[in-house]
Amino acid sequence: MTQHTDVVVIGGGQAGLAAGYHLRRQGLDFVVLDAQAAPGGAWQHTWDSLHLFSPAAFSSLPGRLMPPQPGEEYPEAGHVVAYLSDYEQRYDLPVQRPVRVIGVHDDGRLLRVETDSGTWHARAVISATGTWWRPFLPAVPGRDDFQGRQLHTVSYRRPRDFAGRRVIVVGGGNSGAQIAADLAYDTELTWVTRRPPRYLPDDIDGRALFDAATARRRALDAGRPDTGGVASLGDIVAVPPVREARDAGRLKASPMFERLDPEGAVWADGTRAPADAVIWCTGFRPALSHLAPLGLRGRRGHIATLGTRAVDEPRLHLLGYGDWTGPASATLIGVGRPARDAARAVAELLGAAS
Ligand code: FAD
Repeated sequence: MTQHTDVVVIGGGQAGLAAGYHLRRQGLDFVVLDAQAAPGGAWQHTWDSLHLFSPAAFSSLPGRLMPPQPGEEYPEAGHVVAYLSDYEQRYDLPVQRPVRVIGVHDDGRLLRVETDSGTWHARAVISATGTWWRPFLPAVPGRDDFQGRQLHTVSYRRPRDFAGRRVIVVGGGNSGAQIAADLAYDTELTWVTRRPPRYLPDDIDGRALFDAATARRRALDAGRPDTGGVASLGDIVAVPPVREARDAGRLKASPMFERLDPEGAVWADGTRAPADAVIWCTGFRPALSHLAPLGLRGRRGHIATLGTRAVDEPRLHLLGYGDWTGPASATLIGVGRPARDAARAVAELLGAAS
């Protein structure tokens, strides 16, 4: 079955919904194709105890404030799922799921979007597929020799699954700190970070990250010196569970080990930490394999963008993947502005082309 529309949005998480909100305001015909069976994007799959690093009002998409979660200043992931689900209904966004986009092809005048349930022809595409679906694991010697369980952030759910076990958590970012804090009471925890953990001051939360990312982008755009952005503040937001575990002395970080062996981690000086499991909280990469047929990737595997627009394919916008697709665009509150800019640019392009 082949269908036509002005714009195909790929991905129905927060970025795809924000794009939909603004495409609607531009009066464009569009569809949102989402691989998940239910609304909420990656938020449906996070660990049980995850809390946002900003209060609800500072975690809102365009048009509708996230309501507070009773009793929780920093909402839980389930609250975000409910908010996104309500958001797409409220704005009657045309989300089709589960539909997985396999590839986007240049068919001359139109872009052809091949999915697991049919083909779409579109005049423009906004890709908003997130990063959760492409976990990154560092190349550490001996990784394949380790006999215990290995998992990435995306597969971690709750401390009960590791009760009484020797667990190594790798990673000094927010995921690493939160998962280490989660495991600090019920397991024999070794927390490993490449450099000593850098906590943001306790009274600073995700709001400051948004401000820092925006200030950095403005400075760079205006040709002023790099402010350092988010990285200048620290790596870890001291959300209450992290703060509690840290203050109780349960979050002691060790430097990164040199290799794994069948029993566990081994440091250069011969120190060993036998382990039952290693949890890699080592980040993500943008999920862009569906764009491979367009042949846009540069030398370092990145697609060059100007704002959200792909430099070499003006009909394609990339949304929500990180600061390279708009300051703080990989956050709830930050994706609104680049989504608006992308929708405007698409409307201009299509208006000019019709
Ligand atoms: P996703 O939520 O991943 O949505 C993308 C959607 O696209 C998914 O439904 C996916 O199934 C679909 N998709 C992927 N590939 C295809 C395809 N080929 N075809 C069709 N559909 C496809 N941000 C904050 O603002 N506050 C926080 O506190 C916060 N905490 C975070 C904690 C963690 C552990 C992580 C990882 C991120 C956090 N973020 C936070 C960042 C960000 O808000 C989330 O990662 C968010 O889920 C990104 O939304 P998205 O729409 O870009 O991607």
